[in-house]
Amino acid sequence: MAACLMTVHAHPDDESSKGAGTVALYHDAGVHTVLVCCTGGEEGDVLNPRLDTPEVRSNLARIRKQELNKAATLIGYDEIRFLGYRDSGMPGSPANSHPHSFAAAPIAEAVERLVAEIRRSKPQVIVAYPQEQGGYRHPDHLKAHEVTVAAFEAAADGNVYPGAGPPFAPLKLYYVVWSKERARSIIANFRSRGMNPPFDDRWVDKLPELSDNVVRVDISKYLSRVSAALHAHATQIDPDSPFWAGFDPQFAYPFEEYILARSRLPHDVDNARYGLFGGVEEFLSTAATPRHDDVGG
Ligand SMILES: [Zn+2]
Repeated sequence: MAACLMTVHAHPDDESSKGAGTVALYHDAGVHTVLVCCTGGEEGDVLNPRLDTPEVRSNLARIRKQELNKAATLIGYDEIRFLGYRDSGMPGSPANSHPHSFAAAPIAEAVERLVAEIRRSKPQVIVAYPQEQGGYRHPDHLKAHEVTVAAFEAAADGNVYPGAGPPFAPLKLYYVVWSKERARSIIANFRSRGMNPPFDDRWVDKLPELSDNVVRVDISKYLSRVSAALHAHATQIDPDSPFWAGFDPQFAYPFEEYILARSRLPHDVDNARYGLFGGVEEFLSTAATPRHDDVGG
């Protein structure tokens, strides 16, 4: 079975700011990479003053899809799949209750859609958001967490969502996180350039330490690809805003970080050493049914 990595993101641009270098790394190593984007990002603000025109605003859904295609290609995603929901907007905004919004979607319906994607592409490893997102309470991010955790479990159970395809059990679920070390290094980098950091210490306090079993992936070879992908979301970035520099890995911290949330592997694996696919290949080779020798190759 070919190795497959699936990431589940809420909006176009999240795939570039959370774990893009890791996807580039695994894609280049031959892993099939699938991006599931829960919404179309219709409620995103136009943050680039040079692109804030009535024409851009009225075509934002189409433009954000184009930006996503460009970014995902730069990163090395093999496929983009949409769950088909509408961006729910910031907490408390009227878009939260739009009938097509992700936030308003019945949980079972959203889980079934993601289960169908998991059973179709058969990823051994899935990356999702943690529940605690450093105080970031966007309803679509919270829902993406809830739906992915439920779908990781349900995809393996043939008794649920029979219409979503034959059961498939992904082996590992990771949360993409920021560690305290990452936040501190970005803060130090801003201060060294005489700029105010975009985060405060209270936020840093909520983040995990590297010692809390954080898996750190070295993405130093992929920094320019990640940076190019971030900038492909041209409407979402004010190129003159120092805030974006905090997300741009060129500036400070050439690692992406994950916490193992669920595993179906029979043994503990040194994930910090072997990465997101640690133990997966070994498990698949021992779990594979023995085959008859091919005659004549
Ligand atoms: Zn988002």
